[in-house]
Amino acid sequence: MTAQPTKDNARNIWAAVLGELQLQVPGPSFETWLRGTTGVAISDNEFVVNAPNAFVAEMLDQRMYSLIAQCLEKVIGDEIEVRFEVGDDKEAIAEKATANRATNSNGTAPLPIADGSSTTSQVPSRPSYRRGGLNSKYRFENYIVGGSNNLAHAAALAVSENPGLAYNPFVIYSGVGLGKTHLMHAIGHRVRESGHDVLYSTTEEFTNEYIGAIRQGTTEEFRDRYRSADVLLLDDIQFIIGKEQTQEGFFHTFNALHMAGKQIVITSDRPVSELSLLQDRVSSRLAGGLVADIQTPDLETRLAILRAKADQTGQHFPNQVLEFIAQRVQKNVRELEGCLNRVSAYVGLANRAVDGHGDGNIDLGLVEKALEDSLRESNRRVSEEDVLSAVARYFSIDKTTLKGKKRDKSTALARHVSMYLLREEVQLPLATIGKVMGGRDHTTVMHACQRIATQLKADTRLRRDLLNIRESLAA
Ligand code: ADP
Ligand code: MG
Repeated sequence: MTAQPTKDNARNIWAAVLGELQLQVPGPSFETWLRGTTGVAISDNEFVVNAPNAFVAEMLDQRMYSLIAQCLEKVIGDEIEVRFEVGDDKEAIAEKATANRATNSNGTAPLPIADGSSTTSQVPSRPSYRRGGLNSKYRFENYIVGGSNNLAHAAALAVSENPGLAYNPFVIYSGVGLGKTHLMHAIGHRVRESGHDVLYSTTEEFTNEYIGAIRQGTTEEFRDRYRSADVLLLDDIQFIIGKEQTQEGFFHTFNALHMAGKQIVITSDRPVSELSLLQDRVSSRLAGGLVADIQTPDLETRLAILRAKADQTGQHFPNQVLEFIAQRVQKNVRELEGCLNRVSAYVGLANRAVDGHGDGNIDLGLVEKALEDSLRESNRRVSEEDVLSAVARYFSIDKTTLKGKKRDKSTALARHVSMYLLREEVQLPLATIGKVMGGRDHTTVMHACQRIATQLKADTRLRRDLLNIRESLAA
């Protein structure tokens, strides 16, 4: 390892570690603490990470050390001390710029980290994703639309075109890593371009600021700041569940903006029904607008997203590789990206170890090796019995009826949903599903799956049913 140019190595390794960390650390924390970091040096016993400022360095050292050390060990296969240093790291920036230039000629430079944002990796001392700021990569233009998110996407466009008028508030709900923040920032960019004042905040930041303002007696300023926005984007509202005081602050901010006809956009990774844990008056405000959900993307959409992310990196990924990843990672787009980054970094490392400079070759064996750990995690697939039990429980019928001949509407629906989920979640062949479902023909199964897929595009009730069932499968 010492024979390699150490900075180059450190950068690659850290990119892989970040890919790993991104799967383990909640989104907002990742953005706040890890996004702007770079790997700058590696020796036999020490790995050096550059942090944008002392605060971040201290936080990483004190709160995240063991997690980071673990991920690092996973990537390099050996225990190593981590040291965090602070500074502009001009050399690293300059080197990165050179490396990025080199990419264009031979296409072998390491992937930019995390969201594939090259700006992020070029400017390690300033995370691109900041308070009040919007991630420049999260735009409508690079949001892939499929059956899983077309409703949320359409509503988001409508809100961008008529802020304050179309749907207010507009709430985006989905499981983690499915594109809520991306869509929210896309709205932010669009309305900002049309001249509106946009304020983006995570609910965590909102809470901290609010509590801070109360302590310091600056609630006036806090109020003015939030109430001056034309469009308020508040990410991850589930964060204020159980926080009475912040709900108070939110309620008043919300009312002031809403009464003035200002647009409010909110994301939540809890079902709206669970948001009723909020004070009644808060949840009834939220329910007064439009709630649009994002479902887990189907294979086709996952592949399209991967292809888009791969293109952004400038590195060539054979279709086979993208398909391999898309088939195996199903629940989470962030995880899809994490895998792509991991493959890229790993392949870069492996090539360098062999001949001192990567030639960008990617074969499936390497990919599999690079993703071993991540895949073990996501391969804890649900079984056929899990699906049948979950559907039977949800629709309150027993499994024998589910597999039987009864043809009333609700039994038929439950049966079709079972077949659809056996296909999507367990990936059983059509013929096998037919057998499991009481000896039905494979074309019957195919039609049932198609019917559900079509219906899902427009039927909000069915979408909710599937979200709930999938949630119980994940639990
Ligand atoms: P959430 O806020 O729901 O946890 P994010 O918006 O942070 O999820 O998305 C996670 C990652 O997946 C982001 O990098 C985002 O760009 C990407 N992503 C999610 N959905 C899409 C999509 N439909 N098209 C392109 N990228 C997507
Ligand atoms: Mg988010």
